[in-house]
Amino acid sequence: QGLETSVYKPNWWVLLGDMGAGKTSLVLRFVKGQFSEYQESTIGAAFFTQVLSLNEATVKFDIWDTAGQERYHSLAPMYYRGAAAAIVIYDITSMESFARAKKWVQQVQRHANPSLIMFLVANKADLGAERKVANEEGEEYAKENGLSFLETSAKTAQNVNELFYEIAKRLAKAN
Ligand code: GDP
Ligand code: MG
Repeated sequence: QGLETSVYKPNWWVLLGDMGAGKTSLVLRFVKGQFSEYQESTIGAAFFTQVLSLNEATVKFDIWDTAGQERYHSLAPMYYRGAAAAIVIYDITSMESFARAKKWVQQVQRHANPSLIMFLVANKADLGAERKVANEEGEEYAKENGLSFLETSAKTAQNVNELFYEIAKRLAKAN
């Protein structure tokens, strides 16, 4: 029988990004294995509790899914200050959402705790025909700013489990 250690510190992650980038869709794909073309806009913020069993540990965490609208921006620091991980999402079909994501990255890097794990996530990878942001642009920005980078699709589930498990693994290692 293997030894199992548990990580039960207060532990939350935050999803940030422009409205419509796919924050809610990514978390619902991960938590429920579902996707809807008609995902309703998030009001304020919603949270989901998850427990992931890894080989080396069990990681329990809450995911805060924030609303992207400007009128909720003043609330964002409550979610990213003290967060263990931040996932900043943009939509590959929207240059504006990429610009917005860069602003989130800068804001979080200025204010969040230094051990925070941050991922830049290029979502809607299934919409390649409508792509406005090249994979390399996202990848390069991430590299320059010390972030990890993944292209995902909440629709096809591309890289969705990978994203959440990778963060959990790193946190388990850090604890
Ligand atoms: P949020 O405002 O960032 O939470 O974005 P939502 O999750 O509400 O998604 C906005 C819209 O984009 C919805 O119509 C979703 O169905 C759609 N969407 C989200 N993720 C994807 C994806 O990976 N691929 C495609 N094709 N559509 C997506
Ligand atoms: Mg939402």
